[in-house]
Amino acid sequence: MIDLFSIGFLKITLIDLIDISVVAYILYKLYGALKGTVGSQILMGLLIVLLLSFISQMANLKALSWLLRFVTDIWVIAFIIVFQPELRRLLVIIARNPLFRIGAKSSTPDYINIIVDAAFELSQQQHGALIVLIKSSGIRGFSETGEMLNAQLTKNLLRSIFYPRSPLHDGAVIVSDNIIEAARCTLPLSATTNFDGLPLGMRHRAGLGISEQADVLSVIVSEETGSISVAENGVIYRGLSRDALRNRLYRSTSPKTFKQFLIGIEGFFKKQK
Ligand code: ATP
Ligand code: MG
Repeated sequence: MIDLFSIGFLKITLIDLIDISVVAYILYKLYGALKGTVGSQILMGLLIVLLLSFISQMANLKALSWLLRFVTDIWVIAFIIVFQPELRRLLVIIARNPLFRIGAKSSTPDYINIIVDAAFELSQQQHGALIVLIKSSGIRGFSETGEMLNAQLTKNLLRSIFYPRSPLHDGAVIVSDNIIEAARCTLPLSATTNFDGLPLGMRHRAGLGISEQADVLSVIVSEETGSISVAENGVIYRGLSRDALRNRLYRSTSPKTFKQFLIGIEGFFKKQK
């Protein structure tokens, strides 16, 4: 490797410069993102410990570097715990990348028709419903808040579940492909209580909330008005027609293009502000 220059006994190569620039850039961006939060203090603490451990390794202080390495590990764990919600969102974004969809289940329009038909029949009878359709990664933690069914998806099963006197009607149904994983599930409520000037009830906030936290699509049938909404990526679309609902389900369960992925990322960062 070509040496660019040297400081004392240290020879600096081009690779070293690139390496240092990349690390500096990442740390700078991280600090910018965390500025003013408790996270920036944790990050600064971590940097100081890393610096000390680097110095102690250089000076060959074995016991001290062992101790500092130990502290660093604990610091990293603390960082993960404090930033669990942010890291989780980051992972969801990465999972939405089409590159990671290789090997993910492919969709058949079959279950889309079942969900569309069920939603419209429930709407006609003004039976409230909340159906969460998993797009990529599962949401096992939320399925487990309800009753696991692992039953074949059919229109009449959906209608029976949401029949107001059914013991399973309360809460959400979670669907993965042609399988109803669970019913009566409790979902995280979105902090949004108004959307486009209209108030959101609990069912709508739960459907929106799960779409903020996971790569899913929620179909919400209102008990009050019979209207059908879809929540996806933290956005709610209300008053959908049969075709609009089918198209939305079809579009978001078929593999995405790279452009759509970029639009998704852009939307995420806009919402964070
Ligand atoms: P609707 O238009 O049907 O009245 P809404 O958005 O106004 O819907 P509510 O009237 O508050 O909502 O609906 C209450 C129902 O929403 C509950 O009976 C329950 O089935 C469901 N629900 C409420 N909270 C949650 C939650 N955290 N997770 C899943 N479902 C929930
Ligand atoms: Mg209501």
